[in-house]
Amino acid sequence: MSKIRHSINVNSQPSGAGCVECLKGDGWWLHLRRCAECGHIGCCDSSPEQHSSKHAAETGHHIIASFEPGEDWFYDFETRNYVDGVPLPPPTAHPTDQPVPGPKGKVPHNWESLLN
Ligand SMILES: [Zn+2]
Ligand SMILES: [Zn+2]
Repeated sequence: MSKIRHSINVNSQPSGAGCVECLKGDGWWLHLRRCAECGHIGCCDSSPEQHSSKHAAETGHHIIASFEPGEDWFYDFETRNYVDGVPLPPPTAHPTDQPVPGPKGKVPHNWESLLN
């Protein structure tokens, strides 16, 4: 458990309302994940670019929390298991008016065939 505690920063703020890398480029995502250590918002492993797991691999920040409305689970990329988290500063999800997949205007019509 001590290892997991070290990977969660209870003061970390979410980096924004969407995947950092997708918003910089022209990307889109299915679901969003929040790094429990630094607050990086990235796209899930079903999304084309999988920026959340890439962030974990690059930084060693291996615990993520869901950033989807109504979800409150945590996941550990190292053990590939769900773990008990702790409350993180709000917001704990993207705005409910943001579409899934998102962001608005960037999702191709054939998005379902592009998922991983
Ligand atoms: Zn992304
Ligand atoms: Zn991080």
